[in-house]
Amino acid sequence: ENNKKLSLTSRIVIGMFAGIIVGILLKALFPDSTLVEGYLSKGLFFVVGQIFISSLQMLVVPLVFVSLVVGTCSLSDPSKLGRLGGKAVGLYLITTAIAITLAISLAVLVQPGTGIELDTNATYEPKAAPSLAQVIIDLFPTNPFNAFANGNMLQIIVFALLFGIAMALVGKPGERVKTLFEDFNEIIMKLVIILMNIAPYGVFALMAKLFAETSFETIFSLAKYFLLVLAVLFIHMLITYPIILKGLAGMSPLTFLKKMREVQIFGFSTASSNATMPVTLETVTKRLGVHNSVGSFTVPLGATINMDGTAIMQGVATVFIAQVYLVDLSMADYLMVVLTATLASVGTAGVPGVGMIMLAMVLGQVGLPVEGIGLIIGVDRLLDMTRTAVNVTGDAMVSVIVAKSEGALDEDVFNDAKADIDER
Ligand code: ASP
Repeated sequence: ENNKKLSLTSRIVIGMFAGIIVGILLKALFPDSTLVEGYLSKGLFFVVGQIFISSLQMLVVPLVFVSLVVGTCSLSDPSKLGRLGGKAVGLYLITTAIAITLAISLAVLVQPGTGIELDTNATYEPKAAPSLAQVIIDLFPTNPFNAFANGNMLQIIVFALLFGIAMALVGKPGERVKTLFEDFNEIIMKLVIILMNIAPYGVFALMAKLFAETSFETIFSLAKYFLLVLAVLFIHMLITYPIILKGLAGMSPLTFLKKMREVQIFGFSTASSNATMPVTLETVTKRLGVHNSVGSFTVPLGATINMDGTAIMQGVATVFIAQVYLVDLSMADYLMVVLTATLASVGTAGVPGVGMIMLAMVLGQVGLPVEGIGLIIGVDRLLDMTRTAVNVTGDAMVSVIVAKSEGALDEDVFNDAKADIDER
């Protein structure tokens, strides 16, 4: 039926590659042209790309709140919530620990940092790691509207859970409000799909701007580090995830990865798990068959606390910086890195560049010079984009596994190649 019209996914893929090509060509053909820069890079591309990201972010807070309230109050048994949360948090932490262990092991093997000249001009302002106690206290909002206004995802999640539980317990009034929230939820989901239709242009603009402005010379000088991070990211996505998904849920990794392509491109082009959340949630619930009562909880939670890709960068970067500064790390240090990186990912939100802030905490923990970040920050943008694609893939995969184990996975939808594609 849809043979003539290209699917949305294909249009988004085309938008991405067209943007990359146009960006590279503009840079090659009109180097240092103020016209190109003023009217395209900092003009048209910038405006379109920024509007695209803003409109995605616009949906995050209302979507998470409404869908999580609906999801929570439709749980037949609120005590399920503890188990669900335990499974999700457990899997998020374990996958992150696996990711960083893999990264450290490969980096120790490949030695990306030996033979690199130390650039003494590297500077970076460190930030202190938040204490675990503060992270836990901060879960609870003093004012939910503050949490909404600041987009504090963990606080919004906690408020929505409590609100949803109360709704389930209160009887008639809860049922009435639930119908209202369900309607809201459908309206916002519709809005997500409407916005996804402008994605091909948004993605095009973001890519064209980026590639028109990126100089590849810095990347060449750090090629070993850059390529190693990329390689581990791909290994994690194409080998670790499929093994875990098949092993724990028995679902087809191929189908999963195919349906995740769109989400990955959103993650890649926005470099923000947070901004990608509306699309992740749509894909997880409508195309992968995860029931809303699970997905509305695991997806925003994952976008906030689960960052496998980021952990991979941190693992490679730590080993890299240690090698450049000629510091020997012990087994205990590596263990410390795994622990800090995993915990740091809980306390920081999925927004562009936050991985570098977390890296500062990790370096501080094992006594490596935080200025080492100055060595790699120049090549971080493309890596940030790629690791965000991995981060969001991990969020979706854990959602599928948790749903499957809770009997909340519609396998027909998961296996249906065309699930929900017509609606778009
Ligand atoms: N940009 C990443 C994300 O949003 C986080 C990071 O690694 O900087 O998931």
